[in-house]
Amino acid sequence: MSAQAGLGGEASLSRPRRLWLKNPQAILADGADGGVVVAAGRIAELVPAGASPTEPVDETFDASRHVVLPGLINTHHHFYQTLTRAHPAAMDKELFPWLQSLYPIWGRLDPDSLRIAARLALTELLMSGCTTAADHHYLFPQGLDDAIDIEVEEAARLGIRVTLTRGSMDLSRKDGGLPPDHVVQDADTILSDSERLIARHHDRSEDAMVQIALAPCSPFSVTKRLMRETAELADTHDCRLHTHLGETEDENRFCEATFGCRPLDYLEEVGWLGPRTWLAHGIHFTTEECRKLGRHKVGVCHCPSSTPSSRPASARSASSARRGLRSASASTDRPPTTAPT
Ligand SMILES: [Zn+2]
Repeated sequence: MSAQAGLGGEASLSRPRRLWLKNPQAILADGADGGVVVAAGRIAELVPAGASPTEPVDETFDASRHVVLPGLINTHHHFYQTLTRAHPAAMDKELFPWLQSLYPIWGRLDPDSLRIAARLALTELLMSGCTTAADHHYLFPQGLDDAIDIEVEEAARLGIRVTLTRGSMDLSRKDGGLPPDHVVQDADTILSDSERLIARHHDRSEDAMVQIALAPCSPFSVTKRLMRETAELADTHDCRLHTHLGETEDENRFCEATFGCRPLDYLEEVGWLGPRTWLAHGIHFTTEECRKLGRHKVGVCHCPSSTPSSRPASARSASSARRGLRSASASTDRPPTTAPT
C-alpha cells in the first residue's frame, strides 16, 4: 500500500497514528462513502461522501480504485494440504480413499515443507481478502514436533490473525482407525504438547493475533479417551475445540459400527457439546441434530469446495443452520482434486 503525504503531521505520543482510506470506489458500510479512518488496528471514524475526517490524520491512502470491505474469516483450513492439491494419487476420490492415498505422502512432511505450505496458504488467504484464518493441523510425523510453532512464525511474518489448532490422531489402522500407524501419536504425547502450545502461544486478549485451539481430527482417527481428555484440557485452559464431523455417510457408518451411535451422539458422549466447539462440515446432520447443535451453541463451518458430490447436502445443512445453529461460517477444507471451483 502506498500512502500520500500526511494531512496532519506526526502522531503524538498520546494518540495512535490515524490512516484515512480515502474515497473508495465502493465500501461495505453506511455513511462512509468518503472512506474510513483507521487507528490502532480499529476503525476510528466513518467519513461521509465529500467530507474530511473530523480530526487530523497522519497518512492518507487514495482508495479511489479500491473496494473496502471487512476482512474475511476462514474457519477451517489445512495449510499443509496446499502442497498436495490436485495430486494425481487422489484425483476423483471420495473422502476415505482420498485420505488413504495421501496419508503416506503427508507422512513425509518435514519442517521445511510445512513452512513453505503455511507461507503459501497464508499468502493466498491474504490476497483473497482474508485477514483471520483457522488452521487444522493434525499431522506430526517424526521430526515435525514444532509444526504449530512454525505456523505461528509464518503467520507473524505475514501479519495475519490466526487460530492455530493443535490437531491430533491416535487411532491408527492397527486399532481400527483409518490412518497408517506412522502418522499417529499416543494420547499422552498429544495432551502434553497441547499444554505446551497453549502455554507458549495462546493469547486470550481481545486483540490476540494468535490463539491455540485443540482439534482431534475425526471420529475415525481418534480414540474416545483423547476426545474426552482434550475437552477437559480445553476447559482447564479456556481455549476452543474443533474437529471434523458430519462429513460423509462413511463416517456415519463408521460411528454406528464402532460406537453404536451417530456422530453427533458420539460427540455428546465425549463431552464436546458446548460453545467452545466449532465443527468442520456438518453436511449430514439431520434437522433435529442442527437444533441440538443450536441449543448447545456449537458452531459449524461449511466447506463447499471440499466435496463436490455433497453440495446439495451442504446447502440443506446451511438452510438448517439458519434455523437452528448458533453460527455458520465458510471455509476451504480439502482443496478440490478434480477441477478448480
Ligand atoms: Zn478438514
